[in-house]
Amino acid sequence: MSKDYYNILGVNKNASQEEIKKAFRKKAHVYHPDKVTGDEAKFKEVNEAYQVLGNEQKRAQYDQFGSDFTNGMAGGFSGGGFGGFSQGGIHVDMDDLGDIFGGIGDMFGFGGSRSENGPRARRGNDIQTILTIDFKEAVFGAEKEISLHKKVKCSHCNGNLAEPGSKIITCSNCRGTGKVTRVQRTILGNMQVQSACDQCGGEGRSYEKKCTQCSGRGVNMDTVRLQVKIPAGINDGESIRLVGQGEAGERGAAAGDLYIKMNIKDDPRFERDGYDIHSVENISFTQAVLGDKIDIDTVEGVVSLKIPAGTQSGTIFKLRNKGINVLQGRGRGDHLVEIRVNIPSRITRKQKKLIEELGL
Ligand SMILES: [Zn+2]
Ligand SMILES: [Zn+2]
Repeated sequence: MSKDYYNILGVNKNASQEEIKKAFRKKAHVYHPDKVTGDEAKFKEVNEAYQVLGNEQKRAQYDQFGSDFTNGMAGGFSGGGFGGFSQGGIHVDMDDLGDIFGGIGDMFGFGGSRSENGPRARRGNDIQTILTIDFKEAVFGAEKEISLHKKVKCSHCNGNLAEPGSKIITCSNCRGTGKVTRVQRTILGNMQVQSACDQCGGEGRSYEKKCTQCSGRGVNMDTVRLQVKIPAGINDGESIRLVGQGEAGERGAAAGDLYIKMNIKDDPRFERDGYDIHSVENISFTQAVLGDKIDIDTVEGVVSLKIPAGTQSGTIFKLRNKGINVLQGRGRGDHLVEIRVNIPSRITRKQKKLIEELGL
């Protein structure tokens, strides 16, 4: 008897693949046997509908011939891998199931497959470190050397795990793949389940003699020096990520990443505001009234700034493009100089007389 898959998923006949996927996820969550609302039969039905409608080709066949035809076509095992598993016409794609993966796994006694995959080494750890740099180094970029104590690939066996010169034996049980396939009974019927080979622990090979330096782990602790390029414009608290510069993975697994967090030292002359720099310059009452040229410290060195006659305290002058390079971009911020006029708090009798004569 032909089933109405569109009805089962609650979508109309013109639904897009995206809508079908969404509808499937929604229903799968509702009917998942681990949920209060769970219903094994419905869950199975929803799965079946999605396997057909979620696949353009099968959907076209179904639209033309109905579900019986499709099921007949898809009969038999279609090689399930770690990303999914197969049974008859049903192939559940783990990616499509999204976050209910764990639940599905438990239900099928399959969730263990990730850990069953276990002894197969995990990626090396990420490392986080803090690097202190000067204000100017952050402005212009810099190259710094850092030192890290971390797991590195064993230099004795070059990460091969075997003592140099000794034999590496391919596992006969899994023929070196590290995986074995067995058939398991589940609520959906017989499932093909892959797990780690128990003869070799998932490694696919064994060693006549393990490396004497790393005991067959392929890594050792060591202190390494690393040249790090600090990009111009980086800000305090920002991190640089160096892919693969974290700890080496055991037994040939990929290395982790290195995160270097910037600690930028203050410079008493400058204050950073995004890519602009602020500074404060004190001038005398006379300079403010009569005008002058003064020297300003910038990140590029001393620059001369013209103070026009009659400059008020609090006036801000902009030194264009004397700020900070925009990180990984073009252009540069400005240097903003705030002028503060020193009003003398004590003056001589003569000065007082002169000011009074000026009548300002
Ligand atoms: Zn070694
Ligand atoms: Zn094996």
